[in-house]
Amino acid sequence: MIRMAGKPVADLLRESIRQQAEERVKNCGPIVLAIIVVGDDPASHVYKDRLVKLAATIGVVTKVKLLPAETTQQQLMATILALNVDDNIQGILPMMPLPKGLDGAAIGAAIAVEKDVDCLNPANVGNVSLGQSPWAPCTPRSAMAILRHYGIELAGKHAVVVGRSNVVGKPLAMQLLAADATVTICHSRTPDLGAMTRTADVLVAAAGVPRLIKADMVKPGAVVVDVGIHQEGDQLVGDVDGSVAEVASALTPVPGGVGTVSSMMVMQRLVMGCKEQ
Ligand code: NAP
Repeated sequence: MIRMAGKPVADLLRESIRQQAEERVKNCGPIVLAIIVVGDDPASHVYKDRLVKLAATIGVVTKVKLLPAETTQQQLMATILALNVDDNIQGILPMMPLPKGLDGAAIGAAIAVEKDVDCLNPANVGNVSLGQSPWAPCTPRSAMAILRHYGIELAGKHAVVVGRSNVVGKPLAMQLLAADATVTICHSRTPDLGAMTRTADVLVAAAGVPRLIKADMVKPGAVVVDVGIHQEGDQLVGDVDGSVAEVASALTPVPGGVGTVSSMMVMQRLVMGCKEQ
């Protein structure tokens, strides 16, 4: 079984992104990413810290805005609007999900199209769906980068995506479709999930349910991408059960798989998007 680790993918991307950032900074000045964290969600803070560290290695400046959990929709909206018109900011990334009571979709829609590094603005979502922009959300791009890196053939294959969220499942299904796979999307109302997943040549688990996909739900020899991340005690587990390693021909590990590449995808969008502007 091929272990489709994310690190080699991220390492390869890092140097080219760093070089492009250097050139961009020389010609147009600093590249600054504004990261907004509302409240104390530990996963958001871990992700923010990872982005800040990574940005420093690439030559990107980060400006972190920490807002209390009691922040109102209007206050958060005002923060976004101020960043939109700030010429010193090239990218805006609010950590999701936002605390209860805040409307994440409205916040995403308020981010200026050209500064929207994780494709939260519906205009960007539309352009990606129409095949007019490559800048899908970072996690689906990360999964696709891993599949490409490991030479996984997608054209003519049956890809099954478990999960239909706007940030992962749906955009990933669109990207698999664009790569000429035949795509089935499953969700919580799919009656016999195993019957669907067993037909997959390429199976993507993005349901947010720890170890949902067991070995008997996977066709022998299938390629499996595990997008899930769950903290269980001091362990990180995915949406795919360990037993799947015995039947899959290739599998992304958790940790060390899709998540390892996602933050690099933020930097790629920021730096290359900046160049395009
Ligand atoms: P989400 O918004 O909760 O969406 C989960 C999707 O899975 C929904 O469409 C839901 O169906 C479906 N689902 C839930 N239970 C199911 C079941 N038993 N059978 C079939 N489908 C089921 O989650 P998300 O934001 O897409 O994230 C998915 C996972 O990826 C989470 O574990 C998250 O932590 C992880 N994640 C990883 C990264 C990374 O960088 N690796 C980034 C983002 C997210 P309905 O639509 O019917 O409710």
